[in-house]
Amino acid sequence: MTAQLSIRDLHVSVEGKEILKGIDLTINQGETHAIMGPNGSGKSTLANTLAGHPKYQITQGDIIYRGESILDWAPDERAQQGIFLAFQYPMAIPGVTVANFLRTALNARRKATGTNGSGKPISIPEFRKLMREKMALLKLDDAFATRYLNDGFSGGEKKRVEILQMAVLNPELAVLDETDSGLDIDALRIVAEGVNALMGPNLGVLLITHYQRLLNYIKPDFVHVLVSGKMAMSGGAELALQLEEKGYDWIIEAEAAK
Ligand code: ADP
Ligand code: MG
Repeated sequence: MTAQLSIRDLHVSVEGKEILKGIDLTINQGETHAIMGPNGSGKSTLANTLAGHPKYQITQGDIIYRGESILDWAPDERAQQGIFLAFQYPMAIPGVTVANFLRTALNARRKATGTNGSGKPISIPEFRKLMREKMALLKLDDAFATRYLNDGFSGGEKKRVEILQMAVLNPELAVLDETDSGLDIDALRIVAEGVNALMGPNLGVLLITHYQRLLNYIKPDFVHVLVSGKMAMSGGAELALQLEEKGYDWIIEAEAAK
């Protein structure tokens, strides 16, 4: 079996400062991994690096996606090939509607991967049907499709639209950075139900979260704890419960004593 994602000895610097100090992580198809850790430990740095953000410089190591190194893939190429990132702070794009944004992104992905044999753009009626179906799944009002992307959206709406993007683009690797932040419990449940509905044997998921409460709704197969740019500990779903109960200090202390 080829791993969906294999991160090997990854070192990443931002503005000359080393943030990630040798990360190893393998995600196979169908697996859900959670990365937890204190604020400032480098979780978003990992997400941004996977996205191909130019500010994040890989100084050592490799990122292998479906058996291929993606270090020289541009961000849009990564997205078109099925790597999806939901960011901690989604950007607003005034002037571009949610529907237009999603149709453009979907068509770019179809073109790059030759979906449906031809890679042809999706027809408008087919796209409308897809949108309606996925918006219903995320309990988003139809009016959302014609609003400008993230412009004046509440925190919860932004996160739901991120998952809508994921639903429409049908990725093979989804990285969700703090998708739970700013959500009340109802919105959290809707987002989690949406993610769960999208899970399948072909999708690998990397859930980045500071808190364990999201993991009450989305069960990870593996939990990893990132401390000061290093993987300090890995375990099963029970590790998240332990962190909820005991906090991060005991892991930070153990890591410092190494
Ligand atoms: P986390 O998501 O775990 O809270 P981050 O990856 O956001 O952690 O941050 C880890 C460290 O990297 C912090 O010290 C932060 O200041 C620094 N850092 C991350 N991104 C940037 C950036 N774009 N510019 C400068 N420093 C950054
Ligand atoms: Mg972060």
